[in-house]
Amino acid sequence: MGYRYALVGNPNCGKTTLFNAVTGSNQYVGNWPGVTVEKKEGKITHDNMDASIVDLPGIYSLSPYSMEEIVTRNYILDEHPDLIVNIVDATNLERNLYLSMQLAELGIPMVIALNMIDVVEKNGDNIDIQMLSAMLGIRVVPISAAKGTGIHKLLHAANHEAEHGNDSAGRHMDKHCNMCAPPDIYTGPVRSAILKIERLISDDCNERGLPLRWSAVKLIEGDAPTLETLALRDAALSRIESIVSELETKNIDREMVIADQKYQYICSVTAKCVTRAHEAGHMTLSDKIDRVVTNKYLAIPLFFGLMLLIFYITFGALGANLTNLVDGLINDTFASFVREGLVRVGASDWAVGLVCDGVIGGLGAVLSFLPQILLLFFFLSILEDSGYMARAAFIMDRALHSIGLSGKSFVPMLMGFGCSVPAVMATRTLENEKDRRITMMLIPFMSCSAKMPVYSMFILAFFPARRGLVVGSLYLLGFLVAIAAALVLQKTVLKGGHAPFVMELPPYRMPTLKTLGLHLYDKIKDFMTKAGTVLLGASVVIWFCQYFNFSLHHVENSAESILGTVGSFLAPIFAPLGFGDWKSSVSMISGLIARESIVSTMGILQGAGDTGMLSELIAKAYTPASAYAFMVFNLLFIPCMAAVATLRREMNSRKWTALALGFQAVTAWVITFIVYQVCKVIF
Ligand code: GDP
Ligand code: MG
Repeated sequence: MGYRYALVGNPNCGKTTLFNAVTGSNQYVGNWPGVTVEKKEGKITHDNMDASIVDLPGIYSLSPYSMEEIVTRNYILDEHPDLIVNIVDATNLERNLYLSMQLAELGIPMVIALNMIDVVEKNGDNIDIQMLSAMLGIRVVPISAAKGTGIHKLLHAANHEAEHGNDSAGRHMDKHCNMCAPPDIYTGPVRSAILKIERLISDDCNERGLPLRWSAVKLIEGDAPTLETLALRDAALSRIESIVSELETKNIDREMVIADQKYQYICSVTAKCVTRAHEAGHMTLSDKIDRVVTNKYLAIPLFFGLMLLIFYITFGALGANLTNLVDGLINDTFASFVREGLVRVGASDWAVGLVCDGVIGGLGAVLSFLPQILLLFFFLSILEDSGYMARAAFIMDRALHSIGLSGKSFVPMLMGFGCSVPAVMATRTLENEKDRRITMMLIPFMSCSAKMPVYSMFILAFFPARRGLVVGSLYLLGFLVAIAAALVLQKTVLKGGHAPFVMELPPYRMPTLKTLGLHLYDKIKDFMTKAGTVLLGASVVIWFCQYFNFSLHHVENSAESILGTVGSFLAPIFAPLGFGDWKSSVSMISGLIARESIVSTMGILQGAGDTGMLSELIAKAYTPASAYAFMVFNLLFIPCMAAVATLRREMNSRKWTALALGFQAVTAWVITFIVYQVCKVIF
């Protein structure tokens, strides 16, 4: 069996980029902390090496406080990987090495991948790799995960270390337990305290398979899981406590004693190994951009201006032309080709109807809007990769901190612009359970990409001149409703504190074509899979149910069909919102399967041959006010079943899931009702 490597590093230092580079897979890369919350395993495909690698969540230290720390720590301690690939952001060496020093204490063979070396070189800084390697006692390989340089060397070093341990760096290695001695970084009283504790616990550590140095240090820090695993006798415990209490002073607690020593050591190392081209305090380009972008007065107008611009372009001439092109291909060329073919082979009327009006008509209506989704994603990807989205979260945090909201929730909420499923999973970065529940309940209010085709459809029919404004207002409304809901929830069912915002701003980076391409490719793949499965299935069922009645007889007037009957039964619920006809209710309910299904259902029920015709029919069936109300309800109503399933899994409680869905349904109804009344006056 091949070696197993664990990929460990700070958030946002390039772990997933490296993981993708060595495994040839396509995991999500994002320029903000907290993107990878689950571990992912892959096979190393380089050079026919027989090894696998696990991408672990980013962490700053091995303490047991946050979800990411626990996942990563438990993996290393329980699964015993053969080697740790510690990826270090070379542009932020001091902070990253803090984690490296802790990892080194685990006594597991390790290599350091010194990433972002391209940025270091561009800044004109210099890092003496050999000296760094020698001082740390760990092999250091400079790489650029994004550019793919140094990867080959890194993998060879990893293979070599996994085979021989760290003895190549000249350190002692105990062949029996396959553990390497950590670098000696402690001095003075701390060092003697560690040695004393090591003598006390060495048998227990052996017995329970815990690394000695790591355990001694963790005991000084008062680490609860280590205490529990070691289950020391009372005599030993009180001895340790007295050793520790000698180290503590009024201002320095037991955890700081250790942290202090690590930082001192790191500073002595970087002082020797790093030469910077600029003095500390020098304004980098990132700093300069931030001066404008996060400016107290400019920040929020700039953010909204940018989003508005993106909506104008997406729904503007470019988006519309692309939509027309796809529409023409599917609904004219392809559909008539199929129809003629079917008629020629003598297919029955209902079979032709099923294939042409049901499948092609339904899916075609949605597929036509794919170019616009992709365009929007292209722009959002650029914002995300460049690091701007992290600023947006930061700006929003500052604005909302005053009303008592936790800012860490904004990253998952902004991710909700893409899709609720990963966004709900990203809430795992929140430490506080209540905050996490609140955030999960809010994410479905965000305008995810699947809600877009519905906007496109109505905008085409009613608001071609004010498209940017209309879509912008919907995104904003979702966001505002989420904030209001957060306030309500925080005051009622989920009373309690919230974690402070600890997100740090990543530097601005030029988005790479590869990452952009990856994001778009992901989106197309998701969309196509959905179209081929859920949407296809829904279209067939919908077509069937509007063609037949309950006794399976074909009906001429679809109002008498199965769907017509069910829809008329539900319609009164929606009547006060402006769209009380059975076709609207059925379409809206089909949105629970997948939001795009609203458009395909609408296409089938209205009997539209193409997007142009659909928009004419819709213009007849709705008023501007009821059209806007429909979009608002589509925005706020219970999310699609994939999102509901994720909510259920992450909430881990039926009661809370039911509460969340009920809350969303009621909120959607009330807000839409108000919006409709207002719109009737305005439009
Ligand atoms: P993770 O959070 O550690 O998994 O980090 P990611 O792999 O998601 O990368 C974070 C950001 O750093 C992304 O914007 C990457 O494109 C960027 N990045 C990763 N490696 C490099 C590199 O070697 N050079 C540069 N310039 N950027 C990189
Ligand atoms: Mg990652």
